[in-house]
Amino acid sequence: MDKKDHSSPLNFIQQIITADIEAGKNQGQIITRFPPEPNGFLHIGHAKSICINFGLANQYGGKTYLRFDDTNPSKESKEYTDSIIDSVKWLGFGWENRLRHASDYFDQLYEFAVQLIKRNKAYVCSLKPEEIKAQRGTLKEPGVNSPYRDRSVTENLELFEEMKLGKHENGAHVLRVKIDMASPNINMRDPVIYRILKVSHHRTGDKWGIYPLYDFTHCLSDAIEGITHSLCSLEFADHRPLYDWVLDNTDSPCHPQQIEFSRLALHYTVTSKRKLNELVDTGLVNGWDDPRMPTLMGMRRRGYTPSAIREFCDRIGVTKKENYIEMSALETCVREDLDQKSPRVMAVLQPLKVIIENFPDKDEEMDAPFHPYNDIFGSRKLPFTKELYIEQDDFMEDPPKKFFRLKPGGEVRLRYGYIIKCEAVIRDPQTGEIVTLKCSYDPETRSGTGTSIKKVKGTIHWVSASHAIDAEVRLYDRLFTVANPTGNKEGKDFKEFLNPESMKILKNCKLEKSLIEAKSEEPFQFERQGYFCVDRNDSKPDHLIFNRTVTLRDSWAKIEKANRQQKK
Ligand code: ATP
Ligand code: MG
Repeated sequence: MDKKDHSSPLNFIQQIITADIEAGKNQGQIITRFPPEPNGFLHIGHAKSICINFGLANQYGGKTYLRFDDTNPSKESKEYTDSIIDSVKWLGFGWENRLRHASDYFDQLYEFAVQLIKRNKAYVCSLKPEEIKAQRGTLKEPGVNSPYRDRSVTENLELFEEMKLGKHENGAHVLRVKIDMASPNINMRDPVIYRILKVSHHRTGDKWGIYPLYDFTHCLSDAIEGITHSLCSLEFADHRPLYDWVLDNTDSPCHPQQIEFSRLALHYTVTSKRKLNELVDTGLVNGWDDPRMPTLMGMRRRGYTPSAIREFCDRIGVTKKENYIEMSALETCVREDLDQKSPRVMAVLQPLKVIIENFPDKDEEMDAPFHPYNDIFGSRKLPFTKELYIEQDDFMEDPPKKFFRLKPGGEVRLRYGYIIKCEAVIRDPQTGEIVTLKCSYDPETRSGTGTSIKKVKGTIHWVSASHAIDAEVRLYDRLFTVANPTGNKEGKDFKEFLNPESMKILKNCKLEKSLIEAKSEEPFQFERQGYFCVDRNDSKPDHLIFNRTVTLRDSWAKIEKANRQQKK
């Protein structure tokens, strides 16, 4: 991966790291981690965190751990773990031998908990979960000390061991740290660090009947790995005092520094695994990797490239300010990247038959470059034939004034081909629908010969009817109809704002034959239509399916501009 351009101004985390290196902190080492919980697929928000953690380590010659925060076995699975591994690799990052699970540390974490008990800094509390909640107090009111707070060290040790051995039922006891029930920070009011949970774990099986909670697990896992900078999103800022307290009160091997940055939130989608899971579970989308989903696997299937996503994460920067990013910012990165990488091909998505009556019954080969400014892509020969398909939209029987495509008696250029003229419109006698256009061509107007003086204003794409291949094409649009589906004033459920037009399936598309060889993750520009790729799940050699990755232009720009103005 490229090293970052050092000439651009440093973001606030880079400033901290640079200062730490200069001060000789951590022997000048930089060790970060990306700690997903395997309870869903990664989304675009995680991409930001991945790019920050792996990106900083790359930039400063450091290391990054991929660590699964697998402390909640009832919601986690191997399927999720595998998809997360795939996503991080796909995004272009590696961790060598630094793949870890919080569950690797269950024995050590247990010992740290025992240490806190022995130091009289943790106790087994036998209140019911609702009672603990009720006694925690509020932002205005202090909490109430648990009646079990002064249990003896011996009794605590015995009970904690029994919890571990499975001698008590779920909810009967928890282990809490003893801090301060009157702390203005509610996270510091004797938080629970272990609970009984008789659930089998996807890695440790039935070995444990108790599981540590996030705030206890995370800081100690960081310390065990020797993380220097523990980078997380802003919602953890209020947990930082607890992070520090646990490390200060145990013999933790080191004391990483927690630094918070703002989460990525994107308009017209949701970035919360819980909400995405709801869409999957209710069948409103076709799985976590549905190309409309903001998951990395969904975006991959749709044809987004890892380099475009990395570029996007780079452009949005790293700050502490909460903000929404417009979807168009992501789409712009995708377009710019695909423009460089995609051969141009012709595909007719909603075909209308054209018969060129004065064209001979033979194929004429037309030269067509695959890319307008990059010769590396080479070119192919397109067969021009008597029967062709053009796009239904490119013909209008009764067009407005500035319509420069085909109309009765009008002329248009077929890209890389000839100028044709519409002579007659044939309709289905039953339905009245236009089924064929009878046209003529002007043999003097062959593209690229420069002999013709004839000029027409419009150029349209086409494919030869006898050579075209059939395909299904899926057009995607934004998943939601409003910019912020979760923050609406009416308090409606976010699912009510799903865009019913977010997927449109076209079954009878006609593509130029070179596309028969298209491989998954190979991008194409269908001229005048957008960027497309083969659907990696559903496409078969005898039933090709293409996904539209992104349109050529941003049709939402106007709407977003209006939204912005409304906000002002
Ligand atoms: P979600 O709410 O979607 O479940 P999470 O924060 O619970 O997200 P984790 O698997 O715990 O998901 O997250 C792993 C890491 O990714 C954390 O360090 C978290 O701060 C970071 N992260 C998650 N969502 C975002 C986001 N939208 N922007 C930036 N970082 C994020
Ligand atoms: Mg989480």
